[in-house]
Amino acid sequence: MKYYSTNNKSITASLSEAVIKGLAPDRGLYMLERINTLSNDLFDNIDKLTFKEIAFEVASKFFGEDVEKEDLKNIVYDTLEFDCPIVKVEDNIFALELFHGPTLAFKDVGARFMARLLGYFIKGDETNTVNVLVATSGDTGSAVANGFLGVKGIHVWVLYPKGKVSQIQESQFTTLGKNITALEVDGVFDDCQALVKTAFLDEDLNKHMRLTSANSINVARFLPQAFYYFNAYARLKEKGLGHDVVVCVPSGNFGNLTSGLIGKKMGLPIKRFISANNANRVVFDYLKTGQYIPKHSIQTIANAMDVGDPSNFARILDLYGADYKKITSELSGATFQDDEILKAIKECYSLNGYILDPHGACGYQALKEMLFDGETGVFLETAHPAKFKPTVESAIGKEVDVPERLKAFMRGKKQSIEINKDFLSFKEILMNS
Ligand SMILES: *Cc1c(COP(=O)(O)O)cnc(C)c1O
Repeated sequence: MKYYSTNNKSITASLSEAVIKGLAPDRGLYMLERINTLSNDLFDNIDKLTFKEIAFEVASKFFGEDVEKEDLKNIVYDTLEFDCPIVKVEDNIFALELFHGPTLAFKDVGARFMARLLGYFIKGDETNTVNVLVATSGDTGSAVANGFLGVKGIHVWVLYPKGKVSQIQESQFTTLGKNITALEVDGVFDDCQALVKTAFLDEDLNKHMRLTSANSINVARFLPQAFYYFNAYARLKEKGLGHDVVVCVPSGNFGNLTSGLIGKKMGLPIKRFISANNANRVVFDYLKTGQYIPKHSIQTIANAMDVGDPSNFARILDLYGADYKKITSELSGATFQDDEILKAIKECYSLNGYILDPHGACGYQALKEMLFDGETGVFLETAHPAKFKPTVESAIGKEVDVPERLKAFMRGKKQSIEINKDFLSFKEILMNS
């Protein structure tokens, strides 16, 4: 299977090139040249399959031409060591809980899959270490570090702004050791990102070592997110609710939603999608007006969705041939201010006893407002509420239990290297590694 650039369809790459490079050379995003459909037979019997079996079927449609069958199966099964269960919240609203992985957020699925796929492509060449550089404002660093932990032939460098990530987040990538190095940058997130970008352009460095990125636009990170939409449908079908399914996705960079839309193209019987935004509402405004106007991001309590110019919007346009009518026939939007998010957390808790995180709360609230009679709504609960403990506790007026896994990170010993934000000190560390 070839992957083409969303900027220019004649620029193509193989899967391994697309995974190793991340971004196309013209700075477009890679898209699948073909979206293979799944057979009706599979959908008729999908409720009898397990999550892993379903995920392997879907993965084969994406990666089956490029990865040996048994290896692909191992990659999928290894990735999904945790479940993504669907939980009834109220009447016709279900939560698809994506927070049962190592760092308690949905990015674990993509990060784990990508680590294993990259490991597969560099097999036999492990002495020539691949160095993954990742700049993070919190959640991406933890998912990538934990996803790649212990993978042979790969070293991960996490750059994060000193004093600007929560203690819970910091503990998830500074306590791991092994093939993970945390670099604490005296600066802000943009400085971290600038260091990574400069490194990719630096000739000496690129001669000295193999460098790659693991950000969310990588096809190996975003496509596997389709798996859990299929599983959600299967589990609803099992309950006799596999019709008129509406899926609501709390969105920031829109990778998660795009993988769901691709699932629909593959034949998954989802009636329509809703993208739920916080106050960063450029896609909401596009869906209302047809105009896409990128903005600076605004800080909110659902901070993993604080994106002013979502990268994956280019993929959504590509998927529908930039046809506004087609897009809005399958997708509508919602947007919520911080006070509305807090209110949703509070009301859902008092009504149902279910504790939402601020991101999932946007999804829940959008369904409350936009679901029609006879429809079954599923929102993606993208993170465990304990990751946003103070915010959630202020909304529900009660303490949130911290899962043992999160406590274990916080007990770990912090190991990080402090660097300033000029490129030379970063380069020196990499050159001497
Ligand atoms: C990354 C993230 C999102 C947004 O996902 P996108 O794929 O960027 O739209 C939502 N919620 C949480 C908790 C996240 O970490």
